[in-house]
Amino acid sequence: MKKIEMICIVCPMSCHLEVEKNDDGSILSVTGNSCNRGDGYARKELTNPTRMLTSTIKITGAIYNRLPVITSSDIPKGKLFEVMKALASIEVTAPVKMNDVIVTNICDLGIDIIASRSMEKVN
Ligand code: SF4
Repeated sequence: MKKIEMICIVCPMSCHLEVEKNDDGSILSVTGNSCNRGDGYARKELTNPTRMLTSTIKITGAIYNRLPVITSSDIPKGKLFEVMKALASIEVTAPVKMNDVIVTNICDLGIDIIASRSMEKVN
């Protein structure tokens, strides 16, 4: 049996979790969580960790030269750098509306890249 300590990042309480794993890797118990979301977080983090990705991409013709974007859902943690690299080569032109889909199916993950804010065209 192995014990793993981790901090739950689901809410600002930041509960200190202790996870007991069997030798076969299965999770025996999660303790230290103040709510059920902490249990779910620990189990997912140790089996299939995912994260929402927020970033910016180039935009031309707008008041700013970077447009904030976010993934449409969480992506595997191991794919974060691949997606960041793909975003580095993307450029859009104003105007853009908040929630516009900027890229569909980024890196074949079945997840889209969405504009986090609107940006009007400027002259
Ligand atoms: S276990 Fe629950 S209360 Fe504690 S940090 Fe996670 S979500 Fe927040």
